[in-house]
Amino acid sequence: MIIIDNVAVATVDAADTYHPSGHVVVGDDGRIAAVGAGPAPEGPGRRVDGAGCLVTPGLVNTHHHLYQWATRGLALDETLFGWLTTLYPIWGRLDAEIVGAAAGAGLGVLALSGCTLSMDHHYVFPRDGGDVLEAEIEAARRIGLRFHPTRGSMDLSRKDGGLPPDNVVETTDEALAATERAIDRWHDPSPGAMLQIAVAPCSPFSVTTRLMTEAAALARRKGVRLHTHLAETDDEEDFCRKRFGCTPVEYAESVGWLGDDVWLAHGVHLDDPAIERLGATGTGVAHCPSSNARLGAGVARVRDLLDHAVPVGLGVDGAASQEVSHLGAELRQALYTARSRGGPTAMSARQALRLGTMGGARCLGRQDDLGSLEIGKLADLVVWRLDGLAHDGIDDRLAALVFGPPAPVELSLVGGRPVVERGELVHADAETLQREAAVAHRRILA
Ligand SMILES: [Zn+2]
Repeated sequence: MIIIDNVAVATVDAADTYHPSGHVVVGDDGRIAAVGAGPAPEGPGRRVDGAGCLVTPGLVNTHHHLYQWATRGLALDETLFGWLTTLYPIWGRLDAEIVGAAAGAGLGVLALSGCTLSMDHHYVFPRDGGDVLEAEIEAARRIGLRFHPTRGSMDLSRKDGGLPPDNVVETTDEALAATERAIDRWHDPSPGAMLQIAVAPCSPFSVTTRLMTEAAALARRKGVRLHTHLAETDDEEDFCRKRFGCTPVEYAESVGWLGDDVWLAHGVHLDDPAIERLGATGTGVAHCPSSNARLGAGVARVRDLLDHAVPVGLGVDGAASQEVSHLGAELRQALYTARSRGGPTAMSARQALRLGTMGGARCLGRQDDLGSLEIGKLADLVVWRLDGLAHDGIDDRLAALVFGPPAPVELSLVGGRPVVERGELVHADAETLQREAAVAHRRILA
């Protein structure tokens, strides 16, 4: 039992209940046993004094490419297509050791930034690279995060009119078979699952129509979710109009890729009919405002997506297109992005936190067990310290978290198990992660 007492509580329940001073009790089953205003009930267990802190649901990262930790800081002034064509040849040298080290660093930084559940979108599988998916799953176990890696894929290379070079793609049949094997080996459908797999062909300009169609059929046969990049840039829109004669969302619909079991990365370039279709079908969007800004891709219409009941989560995206990789900081970036487009009422601090928690849980299909602090839900939560020099004086703790600088994590729990304490990883050593990532970076650039 862990009793967090004397703490501000943002539950992110349906009523957005907020307690300026309250408590959360975590049972030995790893689920929330009590949450409310005022002091916690007396009882045995570890007591955490939450004075100066805010407890929220753990942040959910809905889009990432962990391997990119090994190739940060390159192609700094490129568009998406220029950035990709610079990096594809380097990524062709990936192997399990590099991916494991990159994932360890990326997930370590995510945990320290308030993330308790991350997906990963891995789509580069060099022939002699070993088991890269296993390597990143090991890394997530090492840090202690809940993990939803996707089995990504690319089968449309330059010789067939796609963007990636020939040596980083698989054949359609190879990709489908490997995806099915990954689901059979790793996917845990149980409510408390620490590990779930989704199916994730990469993007319209790197994947054939046959792979998109058959991947959707495979995911639905297996009961797992679907993820891909969509509507990220003007270049992608031009590609879709030339190759398919329609917009990216029309293309997605034509290959069976709209539905409440699908979430799409970015959704920046969406017209009104596209937003209406996403809302009507319950298709989710992983909003990655820092990545979109770093690549100059555009400004997503998040307010319009929310007004059409589209499930929207937050993503840091790969560390090569957004070197910060701090999910807590993405709350403020999302708020700023919405307000840059729609004025000061376009998004509140509460709404930004909802995107980062319940919105993400909905994208990943975990809303029944995660995303809010409610009795019976899994105890994935973060206690943020907000009484230091940088935050003290902002009396509304939720405003301090979202409007203030990235806040240190006093304690984070995944299924009731501590993952971060007093700003340090509990299960892994940050210096070791850094050393291993540095070796991986040197090896891939050698
Ligand atoms: Zn991405």
